[in-house]
Amino acid sequence: MNRIPFVDLRAQYLTIKDSIDTAIADVLNETSFIGGKHVKEFEKNFATLYGVKHCISCANGTDAIYIVLKMLGIGPGDEVITTACSWISTSETISQAGARPVFVDIEPDYFTIDPAQIEKKITPKTKAIVPVHLYGQMAQINKINTIAQKHGLHVIEDCAQSHFSELHGQRAGTFGVASTFSFYPGKNLGAYGDAGCILTDDDQLAEKCRMYANHGALIKHQHQMEGINSRLDGLQAAILKAKLPNILDWTEKRLQVAGWYLENLQGVEQLTLPVIRPDSKHSFHLFVVRAEQREELVKYLNDCGIDTAIHYPVPLPFMPAYRYLSHTPEDFPVSDQYQGSILSLPIYPELTEEQVKYVCEKIRTFYQ
Ligand SMILES: *Cc1c(COP(=O)(O)O)cnc(C)c1O
Repeated sequence: MNRIPFVDLRAQYLTIKDSIDTAIADVLNETSFIGGKHVKEFEKNFATLYGVKHCISCANGTDAIYIVLKMLGIGPGDEVITTACSWISTSETISQAGARPVFVDIEPDYFTIDPAQIEKKITPKTKAIVPVHLYGQMAQINKINTIAQKHGLHVIEDCAQSHFSELHGQRAGTFGVASTFSFYPGKNLGAYGDAGCILTDDDQLAEKCRMYANHGALIKHQHQMEGINSRLDGLQAAILKAKLPNILDWTEKRLQVAGWYLENLQGVEQLTLPVIRPDSKHSFHLFVVRAEQREELVKYLNDCGIDTAIHYPVPLPFMPAYRYLSHTPEDFPVSDQYQGSILSLPIYPELTEEQVKYVCEKIRTFYQ
């Protein structure tokens, strides 16, 4: 068995080589490096696929969150509630906007923000909630929306890990006032560099975001405000556009891979397998188990030629960056309890059943 990498972007490239190579050649021939037809077409196609009015592309998924927060008027003196377990983009953008991140623990089993604990964190300064559909698992977005409505808060969905996840048949990214996506190469829909976008049905917010991401101007040299430079480049747009027709199929394949893992790891007592939220579609950006003797298992799998990863080794509130908030493990007991055991196994659409079986067999052997 060849080494099983954690992700295999080359394997995917080889399946769509012709359309990618053509897309790149197109951009070079047209020299449409910033803006241009590919950016417009990708935005249109992505928005259409989601049935949302506006897709505003930008440089990456981090900027997408920052731009939305800023254009919703969130700034100094405000608080924004988010989850203790995510990539730091989710909380660092709250600080970038000038506001204060307020962390909430996760639900056991699902790894997403616990709605039952949101209300006690709401103060007169709270302006928004940023839930993350972590690993591709849907947060309890309807409950979060109900709380937000009651308190007059914005909901911004961080969909960087949840392209085409669904709850009750409705797609992640269509529940909040806006949603943000990352197209970082390893994400479920990945560019060949940094890329991101914002989805929203709100005309005014869409226009503001578009303006802010382009130096505060919709028309060249007409700066309505000071903005930032956060644009999607033509190469990335052309690559994303070429990949887009495959995304639903790739999502199904991820689900199939997850199914093989679940089947072949059933009954391993030392493991807790992922649980899919009822009536939802998980998009399995990551396949995260909780494992006893994790460090030894990681080493053993590595020796067997299997790469693994940890998402994430330290919950956000316990990072040095947030030491100023003076949190203790008791503030986030679930996140704290999980951090020592979570382990991400390789998952991508091109992974074969044979490879998955090999990984599962090695895990079983380790625990025997
Ligand atoms: C990847 C990621 C981001 C940031 O996306 P970039 O494109 O890397 O800036 C934001 N939030 C979450 C949850 C992510 O996983």
